[in-house]
Amino acid sequence: MAKQDFYEILGVSKNATPAEIKKGYRKMAIKYHPDKNPGDKEAEENFKKAAEAYEILSDENKKARYDQYGHAAFENGGGTGGFGGGGMNMDDIFSQFGDIFGGGGFGGFGGGGFGGGSRGRARVKGSNLRIRVKLTLEEIASGVEKKVKVRRKVKASGSTFKSCSTCNGSGQVMRVTNTILGRMQSASTCPTCHGAGETLDKRPKNADAQGLEPKEETVSIKIPAGVTEGVQLKVNGKGNSAPGNNAVDGDLIVVIEEAKHDTLKREGTNLHYDLYINFSEAILGIDKNIDTVTGKVKIKIEPGTQSGKILRLRGKGLPSIDHYGNGDLLVHVNVWTPQQISKEQKEFFERMKTDENFTPNPSKLDKSFFEKVKDMFS
Ligand SMILES: [Zn+2]
Repeated sequence: MAKQDFYEILGVSKNATPAEIKKGYRKMAIKYHPDKNPGDKEAEENFKKAAEAYEILSDENKKARYDQYGHAAFENGGGTGGFGGGGMNMDDIFSQFGDIFGGGGFGGFGGGGFGGGSRGRARVKGSNLRIRVKLTLEEIASGVEKKVKVRRKVKASGSTFKSCSTCNGSGQVMRVTNTILGRMQSASTCPTCHGAGETLDKRPKNADAQGLEPKEETVSIKIPAGVTEGVQLKVNGKGNSAPGNNAVDGDLIVVIEEAKHDTLKREGTNLHYDLYINFSEAILGIDKNIDTVTGKVKIKIEPGTQSGKILRLRGKGLPSIDHYGNGDLLVHVNVWTPQQISKEQKEFFERMKTDENFTPNPSKLDKSFFEKVKDMFS
């Protein structure tokens, strides 16, 4: 059977950027994640295939070899580093690519207990908490540390837990059912302890039925530069606790919101600024101060500047979250046409109507509509 194309597996085009490849992998990994498709062998195969494709395409050297030679590049011990034809097991995938889920809000990833049996009883994980954090463009440009107050459920002091008597601490009960094919035995989550293997032994006054109590906590979140609206960051272990001595805490999912800026508009990593100048300034030229995410900068408007001209301030946009450098700030020059004029001005412009200098002559303009602004920031 011919091996499927790696780009196809990740659902991306051949000229996808590293960010797109990562996104593609993340999408497939979530779609086929075993937690979402328990017992589905085909999903598991697809999950492994996606990991294999990502292993190659996320590595510059391997990707170059694959682009040139295809799958042949990695046959005959070509060295994909442990893949050798899909021999990667699930634990490898998680230890290698676990971070792909980092931004995910997909509760329970990598929290241990994956796949049941092999590692003994699955540890129970507390539920995730979600909060929204609003950031200014300035904060997005530099990255920022935010302190947020969260109300988590934690184990109440004085709560003690004992091994569950229904399942003897295994977290699972065996159920025997009679079917037309005979007696079938199947394991299911223990109804008493909900898989924790432990139940509450001593419940202190303030604790709820699970032995937990609410606690307000200040959590510090490091937000990297370049985040976008809707990005989710995960703070491990700052969600709700779960009952039991072996339970692990859930995570805090931080959803990024972007505050509207007074003068700057964001488009990916580029920023746009609408500059209005008056008629005389367009004709005579002028220096103008404009907003950037790192403070004001002075730009020079050349004499004879056309309305609609775009000045590009290279690198004055936002950083890319993947560290591929900064975007640009595009200054759109708009010439303000006065809507009321005096009698003298009217006379003046009546005369200029037929003046040769006032006659539009677009063919004389620069070919490029974009003008690179020389470094005059200080
Ligand atoms: Zn139990």
